[in-house]
Amino acid sequence: MATAKKKLVQWEPTDIKKELLKKYPAKVARKRAKQILINEALENTTPEITANVRTIPGIITMRGCTYAGCKGVIMGPTRDIVNLVHGPIGCSFYAWLTRRNQTDAGVDGENYMPYCFSTDMQDSDIIFGGEKKLAAAIQEVYDLFHPKAITIFATCPVGLIGDDIHTVARTMKEKLGDCNVFAFSCEGYKGVSQSAGHHIANNQVFTHMVGENNEPKEGEYKINLLGEYNIGGDGFEIDRILRKCGITTISTFSGNSTYDQFASAHMADLSCVMCHRSINYVADMMEIKFGIPWIKVNFIGAKSTAKSLRKIAEYFGEQKLIDRVEAVIAEEMPQVEAVRQDVLPRTTGKTAMLFVGGSRAHHYQDLFSEMGMKTLSAGYEFAHRDDYEGRHVIPHLKVDADSRNIEEIEVEADPKRYRPRKTEAELQALAAQGFTFKEYDGILPDMEAGTLVIDDLNQYEAEKLVELMQPDIFCAGIKEKFSIQKLGVPMKQLHSYDSGGPYAGFKGAVNFYREIDRLVNSKVWGYMKAPWQENPELSATYVWE
Ligand code: SF4
Repeated sequence: MATAKKKLVQWEPTDIKKELLKKYPAKVARKRAKQILINEALENTTPEITANVRTIPGIITMRGCTYAGCKGVIMGPTRDIVNLVHGPIGCSFYAWLTRRNQTDAGVDGENYMPYCFSTDMQDSDIIFGGEKKLAAAIQEVYDLFHPKAITIFATCPVGLIGDDIHTVARTMKEKLGDCNVFAFSCEGYKGVSQSAGHHIANNQVFTHMVGENNEPKEGEYKINLLGEYNIGGDGFEIDRILRKCGITTISTFSGNSTYDQFASAHMADLSCVMCHRSINYVADMMEIKFGIPWIKVNFIGAKSTAKSLRKIAEYFGEQKLIDRVEAVIAEEMPQVEAVRQDVLPRTTGKTAMLFVGGSRAHHYQDLFSEMGMKTLSAGYEFAHRDDYEGRHVIPHLKVDADSRNIEEIEVEADPKRYRPRKTEAELQALAAQGFTFKEYDGILPDMEAGTLVIDDLNQYEAEKLVELMQPDIFCAGIKEKFSIQKLGVPMKQLHSYDSGGPYAGFKGAVNFYREIDRLVNSKVWGYMKAPWQENPELSATYVWE
């Protein structure tokens, strides 16, 4: 028999916050209280949240480690670079397409993504050092594949025993001659979350690859798409739309990317940032070194896709492109609208919670609102305060020991290749039209007053939130999936999409509407009862209770 859901209809956000903190010891509750925010409209400002701080020991966080952010997120989607993990084989869970990045093998057929490369360190390597083993592995990779580049990732044990991976990389690069070899000091413990790994990866990509190829690139309206990782084919759908509009993508960081895309990225005339958290500093570095301005875009949600296309067209300012973009939107929107109208009667009024990544918890709210759904609560796993409150807080961010651990690379204007893409007069004309560069207001202004915004949500709080607020769908990652489903609530992974996608662009919006309609209207989860709910065998209290 289906279990009737007891909905707490009249909940107050302050009561929910109190409930979430009630079980914690006083010190933990004080710390967590700063990461749980009730969104309120304050006069001329946004409320302040604590983010990008260490997870409290003992709490089961949703975060991944720094190495996971470097290898899994940033370098995972590149197809013709061999990514070699230096460490025990367990860490290589993040090295084998667990994020469902898709790629086309290209005409050259060079695609190393289905492989998992690891030095498979053993006890003896930990005791006597793993540098020789690493050099031998690089040589083996080169002999087998002759790739354009080999990158090396440090895992926790490598940092602890002090293997000098950068010297090994330099030596092997000189020895091999025609292969770019470089390393990432991205040990899992290096930062408080994946975010540190993104930064370490992007710094090295910028230092060792960007600007390596100066051959001119064909095409009109050249852009870089930064922070798009082609999960479940999102990047293919965005590429399809951009091609249809006549916009040329010089590089994507790093969905379906190639070595040459990184090497030629300085040839673009505009950088478009999707995931603000994982890459905004690369957009800044591109501007400082090569003169390429950047804007924030979002291709998640049909309306957001149209808005982003219009913004790109407005930047280039040519009527031919503006007309083409309008024609594409007019051609694509009717199919999207037809499906939206079909699902609306069944999805309107349903509720969602989103706890994903650094931008997804924000972007996907657009899709849910297109379906008439309300986001009750949302938050990021690894965001910084600017992703919540907007970029205006960046100069005021506290630099703590953990942030200092991550190198900030010094970038200057390239003496030969720096070229401002717009004249002062053109920039002023754009500003007069209300056009803004390098701007991101964060998640808070787009969330309703009274909604709960929670940084680094943990398993206990996730289950408590579901129990109290009974959302119709909960979106997070694989670690949360089964515990949420056992509570009788549908769970959609928004890191790797389970088996679905794409959800970006116009066709992606259609896929998302249909899938969420099925999930929130499925009765199957209401029949769920975990064995321990039917036959509770063990109960306990904390010592301070
Ligand atoms: S935390 Fe350390 S040991 Fe664990 S997966 Fe990350 S790098 Fe490997």
